[in-house]
Amino acid sequence: MRSKIVAGNWKMNKTLTETNALLAELAGKLPDTDAEVMVAPTFVNLAAAVQDVNSSTIQVIAQNMHFAENGAYTGEISADMLLDIGVDTVIIGHSERRAYFGETDEILAKKVITALEKNLRVVFCFGEELEDRKSDNHFNLVASQLKNGLFNLKPEAWSKIVLAYEPVWAIGTGETASPEQAQEMHAFIRKTIANEYTTEIAEAVSILYGGSVKPANAKEIFSKVDVDGGLIGGAALKADDFIAIIEAI
Ligand code: PEP
Repeated sequence: MRSKIVAGNWKMNKTLTETNALLAELAGKLPDTDAEVMVAPTFVNLAAAVQDVNSSTIQVIAQNMHFAENGAYTGEISADMLLDIGVDTVIIGHSERRAYFGETDEILAKKVITALEKNLRVVFCFGEELEDRKSDNHFNLVASQLKNGLFNLKPEAWSKIVLAYEPVWAIGTGETASPEQAQEMHAFIRKTIANEYTTEIAEAVSILYGGSVKPANAKEIFSKVDVDGGLIGGAALKADDFIAIIEAI
């Protein structure tokens, strides 16, 4: 049985005070669920967030990390720094990192390798732009992102990988992939992994959908057989919306 996961990516939102308040509210309202619940606050508030969730099942994860072990990389964060404050999962390859910070497939592949060497779990994000979908290139694009980012990994490394398919045209736009579009792509992703590795690996990996998931559409998206949960942006910033999405899984 693969894990069901609801992960909230808070991006560059929430001060320390707001982080403490939102986590307290989430911890107080968290429903009984088999799903893993993750939140990704900004770096500066990670250590406090780890303390905040201490006695709840909420996992605090990071939004990014550098591939180097340490050194002269001003403004960057290493895997060891995350581990040392009790963070053991990191998002890599979010479309905003790719688009605004020049993170290429090559850089992301290096980050994944470092994260796995350090025994971090990786939530690897990928997905096509609108032009790719319009020109019917979305399957090719997604296959190449998987190949370039992950297909250098040894089979055993896949137990530490969670995938997040996030069509860029649906992120923060209010436009959501239909449940059928999500299912179609998730099935394709699983088939692509089965072809490169094994059916067992493809069946075991959790594939999250991300892109304008909200309380009103979460249940239908999560009902699809190859959708194992969601990576949530905007709707993760309000406790009641995020809780409703957790309840939908
Ligand atoms: C995201 O940024 O990962 C995301 C899915 O954002 P939103 O839910 O706001 O579309």
